[in-house]
Amino acid sequence: MKSIKILLFGKNGQVGWELQRSLAPLGNVLALHSSGADFCGDFTNADGIIKTIRAIMPDVIVSAVAHTAVDKAQSEPELARLINAITPTLIADEAKKLGACLVHYSTDYVFDGSGNQAWTETDATAPLNVYGATKLEGEAGIIASGCRHFILRTSWVYGARGANFAKTMLRLAKEQAVLRVIDDQIGAPTGADLIADVTAHLVYKLSQQRDTGGLYHLTASGETSWHGYARHVIDFAREAGAEIKVSENSIHAVPSSTFLTPAQRPLNSRLDTSKLQRDFGLTLPAWQSGVTRMLTELLASHN
Ligand code: NDP
Repeated sequence: MKSIKILLFGKNGQVGWELQRSLAPLGNVLALHSSGADFCGDFTNADGIIKTIRAIMPDVIVSAVAHTAVDKAQSEPELARLINAITPTLIADEAKKLGACLVHYSTDYVFDGSGNQAWTETDATAPLNVYGATKLEGEAGIIASGCRHFILRTSWVYGARGANFAKTMLRLAKEQAVLRVIDDQIGAPTGADLIADVTAHLVYKLSQQRDTGGLYHLTASGETSWHGYARHVIDFAREAGAEIKVSENSIHAVPSSTFLTPAQRPLNSRLDTSKLQRDFGLTLPAWQSGVTRMLTELLASHN
């Protein structure tokens, strides 16, 4: 099989970091970040991004870049739109011209969070905030370009690298006697490593079957609230012998309205992943398994 040329944008983000690992066995990966020296990876520089793609001529472009600061996006909508919608669309246009495939990530925030059923790929979208609206516009631009693509909507991403909700809860549980955590937003915590591994599987499939692609939901299996997620993290750490200050009964479940934020979040972030599992013969693991693995590594590194 011919070695494929993969251009990865956003190599230092949670997902991008794991993609550097998971894509490596598939071919030649050129991984860029926003301030690279040799090639432009800055999504605010459209000309630079186009020049990069034309110089590299990749078979596959994987973009893990996004303006992910959901609250900040409310006050800088033009920047969020440039990074989440306009540049991804330009990349898709270049991919179309080259015959390359584009892998792009999107979000549960394209939905309004109503009801309590898991959203499917064909359900109507209605984002509640600027981040969700710009991500949705990016999806639409990529689809309209006519390039071969995978758009993978995911949710509640955590990575071993950098800050994440589990690490924050662990720190707070060591410092505070009482915690209040939201229990009316429901979703599936999803490891950046799982997203990257599934992406590699899809890229491999692409190299074998050129007509594959489309919009898919990709999360870990099962569901929980932020409160349930926090409980899992703190219970696990306590059992593992970590010094935890907060008692089991002092992790209080509160509604979203307790914490006022600039951006409204959807309550129902459940994504139905059956299309992905069916089309690619995958079994997505329960959310607890990835979180437990990350915690095991985290706690071991602190001992
Ligand atoms: P991160 O916030 O961890 O990383 C975002 C990446 O975007 C960083 O590598 C950052 O690079 C890059 N970036 C930001 N601005 C620019 C810019 N102007 N030019 C180039 N790169 C830029 O994101 P995740 O890994 O968590 O997210 C990956 C994908 O998953 C995104 O598409 C996101 O929308 C989606 N997603 C994420 C969720 C989450 O909970 N985090 C939930 C649902 C979907 P640098 O550091 O070099 O600036």
